[in-house]
Amino acid sequence: MTATIQRAPDEKVNWRLGTVLFAGIHLLPFAAIYTGVHWSAWIIMAVLYFSRVFFLTGGYHRYFSHRTYRMGRVMQFLMALGATTAGQKGPLWWAAHHRHHHKYSDEYEDIHSPKRGFWWSHMGWIMCKKYEHTQTDLIPDFAKYPELRLLDKFDMVPPLMLGIAVWLLGYLITGTAMGATGVLLIGFFLSTIFTWHSTFTVNSLAHVFGRRRFATRDTSRNNLWIALATGGEGWHNNHHHYPGAACQGFYWWEIDTTYYVLKLMSKVGLVSGLRRPPEHILQKHLIKQGAADLGMFQTHWERAVKALADAQARAGGMAAEQKQALEELLVSTRAKIEELAKASAEKAGDIARASAEKAASLMPQQEAEAVS
Ligand SMILES: [Zn+2]
Ligand SMILES: [Zn+2]
Repeated sequence: MTATIQRAPDEKVNWRLGTVLFAGIHLLPFAAIYTGVHWSAWIIMAVLYFSRVFFLTGGYHRYFSHRTYRMGRVMQFLMALGATTAGQKGPLWWAAHHRHHHKYSDEYEDIHSPKRGFWWSHMGWIMCKKYEHTQTDLIPDFAKYPELRLLDKFDMVPPLMLGIAVWLLGYLITGTAMGATGVLLIGFFLSTIFTWHSTFTVNSLAHVFGRRRFATRDTSRNNLWIALATGGEGWHNNHHHYPGAACQGFYWWEIDTTYYVLKLMSKVGLVSGLRRPPEHILQKHLIKQGAADLGMFQTHWERAVKALADAQARAGGMAAEQKQALEELLVSTRAKIEELAKASAEKAGDIARASAEKAASLMPQQEAEAVS
């Protein structure tokens, strides 16, 4: 996808210890060629992948970011702890950044919109110093819990403990330090890498590949393959349309394993109040019924302007005034689209109100006619 939003000079990968470690871990599983891999390592890898994806999607995303269901304080802590073992920082950092994404989806402010560059949206922004702090003001409802603040502060401890536990388990199974290291490389590190990219994919690919059912103001898509790999998070267009639902698959054929597990947990009383999208939401802003897809219109328009600018630049450079005029055009059209979107939303509201009023005003008349 063409980057159409210019990143600020301080929005770049900062090569610090944390970033080097993050990048370096991607190479670690190759060392298993030397250690050898016991078959149990693959089982541990699958278990740690699926369980941690669940903690992230069911916990960090659907609970801490969107509050789509309820749970008690102990359960809330356990869910946060489970997700923290995935090495994606603490619950407050994760959920606050995600709330920011929904607030400004694919607009200038959206930190990890693919419009700022595909690799940036996938993992670049995480390696940028600018975004390493928790935006506590976006998550006051959970920042009030000291145990969650503690997890947020010492977010590296749970993944470290899990890594040690996996090595010890590997030692118990294989009986040698070399065997245990093989189990650690595949069972822990490889599953951690897969879990990272599962989450990153929702930010990058789920805004690029797939179909759109609802006309949302962003570029979100519904994609079965992403849904299968991410525990149901691939129904991302559904999710942007109505983030308040505990399910992201809105119909039975939209596989959403996170929701199935949450459903089971609610049956045994571990969680409660799972919210589903109301019927009128499912019928709202449907593209197949002609809803204006302004989110995509804006994206295509931005790409066209960018292509034009690039072509002109290639053809011998653009005059400063020309460049400025193009940039102004981009800003003014964006404002126009915003206006249009607002007007169409208001119009939809007006029509609904007018027809409701009309129906109400007709009621007594029809009743009177029926009586006469
Ligand atoms: Zn999104
Ligand atoms: Zn979300």
